[in-house]
Amino acid sequence: MAREPAHAFASTLKTFKTASGKAGKYWSLKELAKQYPNVDKLPVSIRIVLESVLRNCDGQKVTAEHVEQLANWAPNAERTDEIPFVVTRVVLQDFTGVPLLADLAAMRSVAQSLGKSPKTIEPLVPVDLVVDHSVMVDHYGTPKALDLNMKLEFQRNNERYQFMKWGMQAFDTFGVVPPGFGIVHQVNLEYFARGVYKSPHDQGDPPVYYPDSLVGTDSHTTMINGIGVVGWGVGGIEAEAAMLGQPVYMLTPDVVGFELSGKLREGVTATDLVLYVTAILRGEKVVGKFVEFFGPGAASIAVPDRATIGNMAPEYGATMGFFPVDEMTLAYFKGTGRTDKEIERFEAYYRAQGLFGMPGAEGASQSSGELQYTKVVKLDLGTVTPSLAGPKRPQDRIDLGHLATKFSELYSKPNEANGFNQPADKLKLRYALPHSGETAEQEPPEPKPGAPRPEVEMAHNKPTSESAHVGDTAAHVQASGVTIGNGDVLIAAITSCTNTSNPSVMLAAGLLAKKAVEAGLTVQPHIKTSLAPGSRIVTEYLEKAGLLPYLEKLGFFLAGYGCTTCIGNAGDLAPEINEAITKNNLVGAAVLSGNRNFEARIHPNLKANFLASPPLVVAYAIAGNVMVDLMTQPVGKGKKGKDVYLGDIWPSMKEIDENLRFAMNAKAFRKNYEQIKDNPGKLWSSIKGTSGQVYDWPKSTYIAEPPFFQGFKMKPHASDAGFTGARIMALFGDSITTDHISPAGSIKESSPAGIWLKAHGVQKADFNSYGSRRGNHDVMMRGTFANVRIKNLMVPAGPDGSREEGGVTLFQPGNEKMFIYDAAMKYIEQGVPTVVFGGEEYGTGSSRDWAAKGTQLLGIKAVVARSFERIHRANLVGMGVLPLQFRGADSWEGLGLTGDEKIDVVIGGELKPQMDVKIVVHRPDGTHQEVTVRLRIDTPIEVDYYKHGGILPFVLRQLLAA
Ligand code: SF4
Repeated sequence: MAREPAHAFASTLKTFKTASGKAGKYWSLKELAKQYPNVDKLPVSIRIVLESVLRNCDGQKVTAEHVEQLANWAPNAERTDEIPFVVTRVVLQDFTGVPLLADLAAMRSVAQSLGKSPKTIEPLVPVDLVVDHSVMVDHYGTPKALDLNMKLEFQRNNERYQFMKWGMQAFDTFGVVPPGFGIVHQVNLEYFARGVYKSPHDQGDPPVYYPDSLVGTDSHTTMINGIGVVGWGVGGIEAEAAMLGQPVYMLTPDVVGFELSGKLREGVTATDLVLYVTAILRGEKVVGKFVEFFGPGAASIAVPDRATIGNMAPEYGATMGFFPVDEMTLAYFKGTGRTDKEIERFEAYYRAQGLFGMPGAEGASQSSGELQYTKVVKLDLGTVTPSLAGPKRPQDRIDLGHLATKFSELYSKPNEANGFNQPADKLKLRYALPHSGETAEQEPPEPKPGAPRPEVEMAHNKPTSESAHVGDTAAHVQASGVTIGNGDVLIAAITSCTNTSNPSVMLAAGLLAKKAVEAGLTVQPHIKTSLAPGSRIVTEYLEKAGLLPYLEKLGFFLAGYGCTTCIGNAGDLAPEINEAITKNNLVGAAVLSGNRNFEARIHPNLKANFLASPPLVVAYAIAGNVMVDLMTQPVGKGKKGKDVYLGDIWPSMKEIDENLRFAMNAKAFRKNYEQIKDNPGKLWSSIKGTSGQVYDWPKSTYIAEPPFFQGFKMKPHASDAGFTGARIMALFGDSITTDHISPAGSIKESSPAGIWLKAHGVQKADFNSYGSRRGNHDVMMRGTFANVRIKNLMVPAGPDGSREEGGVTLFQPGNEKMFIYDAAMKYIEQGVPTVVFGGEEYGTGSSRDWAAKGTQLLGIKAVVARSFERIHRANLVGMGVLPLQFRGADSWEGLGLTGDEKIDVVIGGELKPQMDVKIVVHRPDGTHQEVTVRLRIDTPIEVDYYKHGGILPFVLRQLLAA
């Protein structure tokens, strides 16, 4: 029998003991440090990755050189080496999880058609999918909202849920947390993460233990960094490879140390802190880097606050926002119901590895100075002030006291200056809503020239009751005489795992609501108010603390346990409001406790979207307009018309702390999560899934066999990589997000996807969202570049300089304007390749593999941009699309491109990571111009992926050949 080759570092396998004397083996970093003394000085996060590299060193996928390279990590070295990181597990949300499951099912079909066992395709690590992205806020402001929204969710998503049930029975290591339990990152934090793991295949005695680590198909997977778990968001394509046994490959990262000192001041929340951290780190340019927090301030903040900071790593651009494991982590594990045995093992393992404790904290085993970081950034927590961020980007932090003036300024600033480009004299006009059922025909009263402008008139003291709330998105506004104006808060949502997993800010929202109600404050009924916690635990502690009724009194009834407004599932506004906004070009506002506020994400008609802590969401719902300066003006009028100020209702830290005891109840956590198996809910239990190892692909507008393996052969077609005569599909500006490229939200009836759905018998009311239809490529291809706010700068500006919004292009030759999808189909039919040009940060935003999949299916061969977001760049390569980056100050504007040129991409010689590539621009007048760009295929393994036509065919060939 052939013997396995000896592990190159076999001597580093050691034994540790728990406090109660249980033994376990582990791959010891201290032992490795005897060969590579540098190991002791590595940032904690790098040491955790190193442990994985060491443990998985098999001489093939992971070699001794990989171990050596990482053990010798130097803080400021040039980053050319790639790390093969084998993760412990994978988490998925349903928007990305369904297409991933569809790809796995398609691979099984291929395996079967090639005469192989379908079981060849099986996740090798545990995979957990949480159904959190599908619930929408259709109903709100009523005690029935949760129930009604969930019923609608199940109606809309029945076919997807059937498919998931098929997946649960077909794959051994694939679990699903049904709708109504919570948001993936919060469930991950509260339940999935178990500290240290042992391989299910390991029969050794004692077994080998290793740290938790993961990738997730959602950018905010980094929330788990708050409990010392190394993990980040990847595209579904990479996650698929990870679950099928491929290491996640990455360039060795820089690690920025972030030293926190001091204490948060009274009245300052974890949300305020994370908005500060985001703004600071954006300035530090941490894209592609790890950020590791340390110091006494880091040690002093509770785990949920750490998780809130970890959550927003994508917003500050980092791969991770990591906090090492310490006593606080253990306390969190205890409070959330992990068993004593698990906690004991977790602590013993981390202590044995020398990884326990916050570096630089008082009494820590390691001082911060002992660890090497690429750079150290510092923040005194005492300097953080209450803030919001917006109105268009999460990194644009605004001091609470400056919001009113900021909004007023931005109202008339040009788009390029982040403004709304509106005439300043219209800022404070108010418009009557048309009566329900009627169209808004009356023109708003235009003030005569020179006459004083009407001031914003706030109706703080309107009686609010259950029935006074609209209670249904599609319903008309009941209250007569309602007017709306610029800056009006039309959506106020306590949403997003970023904050809803954090008891201190959720309790603060409840306490503020209580004081507001007691003071006689109310919320105007037409404001769409919603409470969507990230787990049922939140409801439980809000109830126990007696605060839920007060939130409800202000309209914040439970709307769902899921992402809701954060992912763009805010549901529609009342028709009268939509009409008033569009007719009068109003800049309406949303205030939400989310992490993303990109254009058209929250609601297509709301242009100003502000991220804020849950208590501020409630406060702004009461104030009703973002131009109310909450630092100097009353939030509203209370009993007997008395002015009530924010300071009157803002809860103190002491009050929040007193209520925290309701939030950490181990029994409640255990009881809740036991129900995933024991009591998943009637709606879920009634879903009938098909059985069998291979999916039979019944006709569905939700799930269809993806075309990525059509004509699959075991031998890849040799790719010559370059191409000639390509047409330009689009010329984009900076910060094109994955939401612009592949929107997640509503599907417009007149869009190519809407037209296709209607042609397939789907009524507008049943369109659901793009996100929920990611299991069907016919919808998703048509949705690519279909964001209603995307601006293709090929289309000339209008006479007033404004740009047309929506996914259109000018088909060449001839300049015929049409949908990008239609043009793509024509180009594909003619065999003409296409390219897209972008600016800075192309593909920023949520990880969204459909942004790359759709690009590929539209026949786009290359994206040329000034810079790329990390995950989207990798996804483009993973789908066989070339990311090419302009060098220095070069840009498509600099080249003078207008869209009617032809493009050659010339790759001289063998394809190599980050090589120079020539672009030749042929103009209609017969002239041509050359420019050298950098190939952003970053690693050798990516070269292989590209040569195989993408990561999926690459992995499939490996699995089928095994
Ligand atoms: S709540 Fe928002 S950030 Fe969290 S998983 Fe959902 S969409 Fe992502």
